[in-house]
Amino acid sequence: MDFSLPDDLRMWRDAVLDFAANEVRPQAAELAERHELHWDALRKGGAFGLMGMTVPEAYGGSELDALAQAVALEALGWGDAGTALTIEAHNCLGLEPIVRFGTEAQKRTWLPKAVTGERLAALALTEPQAGSDLQGIRTRAERDRDGWVLTGQKMWITNADDAAFIVVLARTRPERSSKALSMFIVPREAEGLHVGPPERKMGLGTSHSHALTFDRVRLPADALLGQEGRGLHQALEVLDGGRIGIAALSVGIAQAAFEEAHRYAQERHAFGQPIAHFQAIQFMLADMATAIHAARLMIYYAAWLKDQGRPFAQAAAMAKLYATEMAEKVARDAIQIHGGYGYSREYPVERMYRDVRLMTIGEGTSEIQRLVIARRLLQGQTPKVGLA
Ligand SMILES: Cc1cc2nc3c(=O)[nH]c(=O)nc-3n(C[C@H](O)[C@H](O)[C@H](O)COP(=O)(O)OP(=O)(O)OC[C@H]3O[C@@H](n4cnc5c(N)ncnc54)[C@H](O)[C@@H]3O)c2cc1C
Repeated sequence: MDFSLPDDLRMWRDAVLDFAANEVRPQAAELAERHELHWDALRKGGAFGLMGMTVPEAYGGSELDALAQAVALEALGWGDAGTALTIEAHNCLGLEPIVRFGTEAQKRTWLPKAVTGERLAALALTEPQAGSDLQGIRTRAERDRDGWVLTGQKMWITNADDAAFIVVLARTRPERSSKALSMFIVPREAEGLHVGPPERKMGLGTSHSHALTFDRVRLPADALLGQEGRGLHQALEVLDGGRIGIAALSVGIAQAAFEEAHRYAQERHAFGQPIAHFQAIQFMLADMATAIHAARLMIYYAAWLKDQGRPFAQAAAMAKLYATEMAEKVARDAIQIHGGYGYSREYPVERMYRDVRLMTIGEGTSEIQRLVIARRLLQGQTPKVGLA
């Protein structure tokens, strides 16, 4: 067993870290305060290969595997959580369904438009009254003579206003059944699609999420993505991969908060010595470093399983659950180490704490991850000892 990253992957990670340090981090706090997307980083990210990470080269993408995407999202999360979420949602939610389920014509039409960093991509699953319970969605797509008519509402859709297209999950059959939903590709300019202003959130100022209304949006027949009736399965498959992305991004936030706390602990004096000399502070730093390391290994393992074509849903759910809850705790403890200054807007750990709070909610709450894990544990034989 070899735990070292291959040379090309290490070079890629270091290059994205440099990009995050030079192009993302410096303006992040100011843009987040103004609730503005980091367009400069997104456009440069396009040229850098970050805006179509798993998109095949034939459509202008970087054709990376899940592990390479995870190390990049970790580095971006270290740079700025909001920008990393914009890029994660673009890659893992918006582009991925087309990469996985699109026809050749759909790939040629939509992917090259969205890999440059000029326009984003989005995935619309959640509705005002249904998030975790996707079978409860009400947006419906009805057959028309020459296509479909989409009616309904979505909520919290990241990147929607700036997207070239939005992949939308809609009901194509009235009954509650796993075969009642289908996916559609909806151009941002579609007539009857109304996008609300960015939601006012607790954190993640450099990421925008919106409410959507579909007021009899007419779509051509070839807007259907994948098979009719397979939408729920397709969405769950996409979310399995997205969870590796959110987990990686969270480790990046945790790493950034840890570095701030580590530095501050050596600079700040109390009782005539640096607070890093107190065992209480040392133990917090030791626990942070240990938890970050454990989460990183879980993420790399889940990504590796995915890249091997092996079942990875449970490993991804475990990685998402652990990494996001760990990152929230690390950001919390980073504030604790900063004392009163940690609660101030002057220090970045305050923003990191607000930013990281979303991660245990988006792309499947912690409770849903536990359900996914428990279901698999109780389905088959007694869980085995050791790795797959
Ligand atoms: C900033 C932000 C960005 C987002 N971006 C997107 C996006 O781009 N696209 C998109 O489609 N959605 C997006 N979402 C929505 C997000 O995925 C949902 O908020 C999330 O899945 C939870 O759904 P919900 O909010 O409807 O909560 P609910 O499903 O109503 O859950 C409420 C609570 O009940 C718990 N719960 C629900 N069911 C169960 C159960 N069976 N067992 C135990 N507990 C349960 C949940 O864990 C949670 O604690 C975003 C949300 C936010 C805040």
